[in-house]
Amino acid sequence: MADTNADWFARAAAVIPGGVDSPVRSFSSVGGTPVTIVRGEGPYVYDVEGTRYIDFVQSYGASLLGHAHPKVVDVITRAASLGTTFGAPTPGEALLAEAICARVQGCDQVRLVSSGTEGAMSALRVARGYTGRDRVVKFSGCYHGHSDALLAGGGSGVATLGLPDSAGVPAGAVADTVVAPYNVVPELDDKVAAVMVEATAANMNLVAPAAGFLGALRRACDEVGALLIFDEVITGFRLGTGGASAHYAVTPDLWVFGKVIGGGLPVGAFGGRRDVLSVLAPGGPVYQAGTLSGNPLATAAGLCVLESVGDADYAALSSRVAGFAARLAEALRSGGLAASVPSVGPLLGLFVAPAGTDIEPPANYDEARTLATNGVYPLLFHALLRRGVALAPGPFEVLFPSLAHGDAELDATIEAAYEAACEAAAALGAQ
Ligand SMILES: *Cc1c(COP(=O)(O)O)cnc(C)c1O
Repeated sequence: MADTNADWFARAAAVIPGGVDSPVRSFSSVGGTPVTIVRGEGPYVYDVEGTRYIDFVQSYGASLLGHAHPKVVDVITRAASLGTTFGAPTPGEALLAEAICARVQGCDQVRLVSSGTEGAMSALRVARGYTGRDRVVKFSGCYHGHSDALLAGGGSGVATLGLPDSAGVPAGAVADTVVAPYNVVPELDDKVAAVMVEATAANMNLVAPAAGFLGALRRACDEVGALLIFDEVITGFRLGTGGASAHYAVTPDLWVFGKVIGGGLPVGAFGGRRDVLSVLAPGGPVYQAGTLSGNPLATAAGLCVLESVGDADYAALSSRVAGFAARLAEALRSGGLAASVPSVGPLLGLFVAPAGTDIEPPANYDEARTLATNGVYPLLFHALLRRGVALAPGPFEVLFPSLAHGDAELDATIEAAYEAACEAAAALGAQ
């Protein structure tokens, strides 16, 4: 009978490759055995052994209100009782699309899909179909899902695993993908269909765009007739009501959404200007489809989340996170580590190093990787996990404090962080 984390992981590993359905969940970059989660409530998750953790993973940003928010659970339950999928238009799709377009200035239409990967892949196909060009420029350390063409120079799990890209992707599939360093405006020409960017990079831990970078990308695209695509799978409806495009006052041609807009269920979306999206089937020649796209449960959950939060919530969460970031950096330093804890709105980054290291917030993937792979993160991760604080099991992920993380949880995290830093510093000293 399986009842410990180790038992469940062994069972899973026997029938699921690596024991996980997404490599970022494995503990391969921090060592040890993953905890198997049975339940979440607000800022907390509980594992199969009954241990409670303050959860800063929050499904990698899919959860904004915290786990099992009663309003979200209620709308999902009601939607489920009406039937879970039809393969026909439903009101929920129109309502969620309306909610997205109403909140994101310049986004006239969206099509719903079932993951961020699908959204990014489809946005790129639209851009190629619209421009009649093949090339896509992306940035090193930015992750746009695991479609072949966008899997070069990726962040998140690709970065964690140290894979430059992936086996199984034919050279031809990435032949038109150009990978450029983040925060440097690349040279473009009239072969470029699109420039895709995370408008705040959150898959190489947290790297903010330099002042003027996104505006300069907008102008560079306009000069050569390329489309600018903001991958807002993380930033959308998290940085604020209008996402990164409102936050930075730069309007792309196409957006990719995911995570928050599904309210914890599988959803993605891509959207943009009406004339650009007019190339999509059934009206146009660019094919894209999905049996479960716009699923009634997912659209109900996503709509509930979008309607539950407003500017005041984002402002409150952002200021709470800024204060927490400063205290967390202080606690880690007091405990004997060097630390940089950048924040952008409610997004929180975390870089740690041995005491005495000169540590600045990174501006690109090379700088982020140097800090992320110095061997300190796994020590801090486990010391925190033993104290009931769950971060992502890899150094390239950001922390996702939710609207459910109150003072009690944040204070407890600061206390645990101080002790964990002491433990990690001692372990480094003993090495
Ligand atoms: C998570 C993520 C994706 C992929 O979304 P999935 O739902 O995991 O397929 C794409 N882009 C960014 C920026 C992401 O963070």
